[in-house]
Amino acid sequence: QTIGAFFTDMAQRQGEREALVSRHQGIRLSYAQLLAKSRQMASALLRSGLQPGDRVGIWSHNNAEWVYMQLGTALAGLVLVNINPAYRTAELEYALNKVGCKALVTLPRFKTSDYLGMLRELAPELNTAPSSGQYELASDRLPSLKAVYWIDSPADTAEEPGMTRLSTLLAQGDAADARLDSLARLLHPHDAINIQFTSGTTGFPKGATLTHRNILNNGFFIGEAMRLTPEDRLCIPVPLYHCFGMVLGNLACLTHGSTIVYPNDAFEPVSVMEAVQAERCTGLHGVPTMFIAELDHPRFAEFDFSTLRTGIMAGSPCPIEVMKRVQRDMNLREMTIAYGMTETSPVSCQSATDTPLDKRVSTVGLVQPHLEIKIVSPETGAVVPRGETGEFCTRGYSVMQGYWEDPQRTAEAIDAQGWMHTGDLATMDDEGYVNIVGRIKDMVIRGGENVYPREIEEFLYRHPAIQDVQVVGVPDAKFGEELCAWIIAKPGQALDEDSVRAFCKGQIAHYKVPRYLRFVNEFPMTVTGKIQKFRIREVMVAELQ
Ligand code: ATP
Ligand code: MG
Repeated sequence: QTIGAFFTDMAQRQGEREALVSRHQGIRLSYAQLLAKSRQMASALLRSGLQPGDRVGIWSHNNAEWVYMQLGTALAGLVLVNINPAYRTAELEYALNKVGCKALVTLPRFKTSDYLGMLRELAPELNTAPSSGQYELASDRLPSLKAVYWIDSPADTAEEPGMTRLSTLLAQGDAADARLDSLARLLHPHDAINIQFTSGTTGFPKGATLTHRNILNNGFFIGEAMRLTPEDRLCIPVPLYHCFGMVLGNLACLTHGSTIVYPNDAFEPVSVMEAVQAERCTGLHGVPTMFIAELDHPRFAEFDFSTLRTGIMAGSPCPIEVMKRVQRDMNLREMTIAYGMTETSPVSCQSATDTPLDKRVSTVGLVQPHLEIKIVSPETGAVVPRGETGEFCTRGYSVMQGYWEDPQRTAEAIDAQGWMHTGDLATMDDEGYVNIVGRIKDMVIRGGENVYPREIEEFLYRHPAIQDVQVVGVPDAKFGEELCAWIIAKPGQALDEDSVRAFCKGQIAHYKVPRYLRFVNEFPMTVTGKIQKFRIREVMVAELQ
């Protein structure tokens, strides 16, 4: 089935049950209303001149319009391109041109980000276009872009020269547009409907092309593992431009008749806790740092979490301690960890809600239904024995069509037998539970010994004065690579090389003790909050030259 067909069927069955609550916008929609809005959006996009298969970008924080666009593009057979709202002009230009976006839906501005200003910087012609009409000029730097629609609210009175209000576009659509019904018969589950950029943790973000079949199935099985029903209300503070929000959040809910709750446009711990209490949420998603921000918030004790049951922690390594705390202190008894990547729709492994607690907090769970996984030696490609470390590979419905118009990169990632090589190192135990050990790119080979930075990081975390630590390999003439640790000390704690070295002595093998230690205040991060080890490496390489 296509997403449009599946959602239409669900919405007709759910009718007046609540589908979407966007608290910061004061919007509440039933399934029937959300279907009508999404059809109206699909109709408007097609009437604006877009053809099925065309790419339409969305550059925005979380809001109801995001969902109209997600479902509207799927109903219209358009390809939605998720653009990170933290991107700036150079990144926006790269993303829009890479995939040839014809239209862009954007927030006008947000806090200190002036999105329309950045667009005008790239395409000054926008200022001269008539304010009533649509932007039809091709600009030098954004040659494919034909229209910009800004997400307006009733409070916005001023017009934006050359750019159309999204509400104006929407008003041109008709939920009863018969073209949508004839189109529905032509759309195919294998059609591309979404291009998502990876986080850029290991380098430049790559655009993964995903189909209806990829993400609809993934969202469905994620919701199954969480035992979602129409009674469930899921609080989604994770970003929608990333698969965490749009698949683990939106699609898991919409495939189970559950209610989507957005606490805010961007993450803010108090609004999340308020939303959980006021909306009586049964589920809560987050990356580990979000849960830490909630648990450690001075107002944490004021909130009632008794309605909570389930949720997903994912995106980066999930510390056992944080998993235990959310289960105990937030009543998230059925909380699980998921593992995946943008290129695989994203989830490959996830615990079920009835998985034994120790497995749920310490592993990323079992393979998802209808997928294959294997763990292979990166050198020989042979499957490694249980318990041993190798590269995590997966095959099945979830594997992306490819990187957008990049057959070479695609062939490097997906082999001739259809296996996606994730670049992640993992182990599998006798029962099939998977543990993510690190990334191949981060593995260090020092004097012929394989060293996994995560192991050394976990060890150093136990030092009472260390708040955070990152270990990377740097080139070395004698050993091939040497280890380097960047350390953030706890506030007010004195920390020096001697104390760290004394802590390691006799506890870990001599070759695992980092040769270089640096004390820093912060690490280089992606906009999604992931630490970019390649930048740490770059700084060290420059320093050691
Ligand atoms: P890029 O590919 O651009 O360098 P990225 O790999 O961080 O960026 P994403 O697709 O957003 O981009 O993230 C997927 C990666 O996140 C996985 O390949 C894995 O390394 C990491 N990851 C996801 N979930 C988990 C988890 N539960 N535990 C450990 N690592 C995880
Ligand atoms: Mg990646």
